[in-house]
Amino acid sequence: MSNLLKHPPGYQTCNVMQRSNTQISHLVRVVGRGTPGPTVCGLTRFDDLDGSTVVRPADLPGWSMGGGVFGPKVTQRKCPGCWEES
Ligand SMILES: [Zn+2]
Repeated sequence: MSNLLKHPPGYQTCNVMQRSNTQISHLVRVVGRGTPGPTVCGLTRFDDLDGSTVVRPADLPGWSMGGGVFGPKVTQRKCPGCWEES
């Protein structure tokens, strides 16, 4: 049974697994049919590239939009910076 957090209208969850069986749920605004841009709290999901060279690595590696890790042993936590504004 999934215990993933349900996103508010107009947002999609961006879940990032941490150590200690805790998953942090960020939010990304839905624009049109997609979710471009950083999380509401300002973290980037994609590397800045110059050709194939990483100029600036993404703040959040290993995220899952709408999905993620769940189960009785996984604690789901809201990122306060993302969920306060929504
Ligand atoms: Zn966040």
